[in-house]
Amino acid sequence: MTGHLVSDRLRTALENAAEDQIIFDLGGIEDAYGALLAELPGIAIRFAIKSCPVDGVLETLTARGSGFDAAGPQEIAQALATGVAPELVHYGNTVKSDRNIADAYQLGIRDFATDSVPDVVAIAANAPGSRVFCRLGTTGEGALWGLNRKAGCSVRDAIVVLSIARAQGLVPSGLSVHVGSQQMTTAAWQNAFDELAFAMTELADVGIHLDRINLGGGLPALGYLDRTGTALNPVLAEIFATIRAGMRRLQEIAGRPIEFVMEPGRHLVADHGAIRAHVVRLSTRQQPDGERESWLYLSCGKFNGLYEVDQVRYRMVFPTHPSGRQVAAVIAGPTCDSDDVFGQEPEPALVPEAIVSGDPVWILSCGAYSTSYTTRFNGFDPLPVNVLPVGIHA
Ligand SMILES: *Cc1c(COP(=O)(O)O)cnc(C)c1O
Repeated sequence: MTGHLVSDRLRTALENAAEDQIIFDLGGIEDAYGALLAELPGIAIRFAIKSCPVDGVLETLTARGSGFDAAGPQEIAQALATGVAPELVHYGNTVKSDRNIADAYQLGIRDFATDSVPDVVAIAANAPGSRVFCRLGTTGEGALWGLNRKAGCSVRDAIVVLSIARAQGLVPSGLSVHVGSQQMTTAAWQNAFDELAFAMTELADVGIHLDRINLGGGLPALGYLDRTGTALNPVLAEIFATIRAGMRRLQEIAGRPIEFVMEPGRHLVADHGAIRAHVVRLSTRQQPDGERESWLYLSCGKFNGLYEVDQVRYRMVFPTHPSGRQVAAVIAGPTCDSDDVFGQEPEPALVPEAIVSGDPVWILSCGAYSTSYTTRFNGFDPLPVNVLPVGIHA
């Protein structure tokens, strides 16, 4: 039932978990890192810490030679604690105060994302001489989480921003994009490469020759279901082919060696994390409209591990009830917040009718954006983290 998406290691750990926890298979993450390098030869990976700020995960990636995309001084410090060289860590957030920039500079960071004149002027003042890359905006179309508008600028703006960088003693070193998280289409990548190609040509006209292109994140996880419970099945092979072709094209335009960087988050970790939760209650109630509805309340929900349930549904396994009669139920988390429901317009899922309070539930492909979005809302503790070390065999 868990299919090929769960490693034997993860499955064994789920079977052995007597209490609620979130489990990360570090060997699976290491393999995903290696597979990505094999798909995109020559790429430099800067893991987006926010997707999974778990020390064991960051240490595993550092050991393989990964760098990090950090969103602020705290993430920078967490990355550096793994022993990674500061040159492999960049400040990828375009939103930062003067103080944030100065703190990052103090920590040894010399590579900053930017997308506006006030931000680049602040970098020049607080991180003198640093390298900057300008983020181009994208529409986010085709992604489950678009990430559009808050960060990124037009090509016209980028020319101004990088020209000011150069005038103020910074090194205008690159451009970046983010096609949106869990991007399902190749068209979004194609558009991003069109935009990057245009920007590189325009920048060359004003004498700015880049040496680095940052392709951002957005690569999909494989194990999600959509909100109706259908597998998402991203076209990963086509996406990689589009990226490889785009890299060749930009390399030709540059006419000099370009370093390609990528900042994957979700893709490296989502399918290698799973939650062991338990059933709080399966109950049936009559709604004001007269309809009888079954609800399955779990010990884990939007505020302690499953923040992303507005956009995806997770594969679930009820290991104590592998067969038997099923009932259609709306699944929800343990808090009294009516947002803590799996799917904004709840679509019932099929769950075992005989399930009782305390029965274990395994929730798969929730390694990304789970621990980072955990709160203590209603007093429910964050899930304990259990990392399965690299090199263990089930
Ligand atoms: C969130 C983020 C990423 C990671 O995105 P994924 O879709 O998880 O791969 C990469 N770069 C930046 C700048 C981000 O904000």
